Amino acid sequence: MSKLEIHQFPIRGDNYAVLLHDEDANVTASIDAGSAAAIADELRKKGWSLTHIFTTHHHGDHTEGNEALKQEFGCTIVGPRAEAARVPGIDRPVSEGDEVSFGRFTFNILETGGHTAGHISFVEPNEAVAFVGDTLFTLGCGRVFEGDAQTMWASLSKLMQLPDDTKIYCGHEYTQANARFALTIEPENEALQTRAKQIDELRARGEPTVPTTMAEEKATNPFLRPHSSAIRARLNLQDAADWQVFGEIRARKDNA
Ligand code: ZN
Ligand code: FE
Repeated sequence: MSKLEIHQFPIRGDNYAVLLHDEDANVTASIDAGSAAAIADELRKKGWSLTHIFTTHHHGDHTEGNEALKQEFGCTIVGPRAEAARVPGIDRPVSEGDEVSFGRFTFNILETGGHTAGHISFVEPNEAVAFVGDTLFTLGCGRVFEGDAQTMWASLSKLMQLPDDTKIYCGHEYTQANARFALTIEPENEALQTRAKQIDELRARGEPTVPTTMAEEKATNPFLRPHSSAIRARLNLQDAADWQVFGEIRARKDNA
């Protein structure tokens, strides 16, 4: 039996597109679809026909390709029930606890709202992969556009329940800027210092910093570390709730 094939490539500047392929079942899914032309091109190169689009949230840089790809391939579009009216071409609205079959694989739906209110993540536990859209980024997290800090922190906490070896695929390559900001929040974190250097080396070679792992993020991503006493001391929030510390870090990043 073949593994789940995962093919990631950059589109639109700093977005990542991902194609999933199950050779045995001959099915192919696109995680989000920010550009029909770029995704159709990559499908042709691979010789794959698109059977599914898994939409994480309604933003245009994740959905603008939906209708053209559906027209060309007749694929099924799975997306967040709470945003169904804003996801072009949606066929199957899903919410927390739903399961989506894809060849021999099964994706669990987690609701991870905050960046947008209905944002969802797709998790395949047996393959230890999670597609989290704009909720969690390598060394960062999405801007909180439609929720509040408490909601976003609950969503990140939910993702933190995933096993440490889970590979995290996110929607953007924002990592170098995230690393610079992270070092202002927790400069004494040696794992973060090391990682920031590795990220600069990867980007200098034009290589992606995505996927990351939950273990790496827990150790170095300040948005997942509101419990850190060093961070709390720096922000002068020793006695605040985790979500409040998270909210202060997010506010500082928004204004950075
Ligand atoms: Zn977005
Ligand atoms: Fe985005």
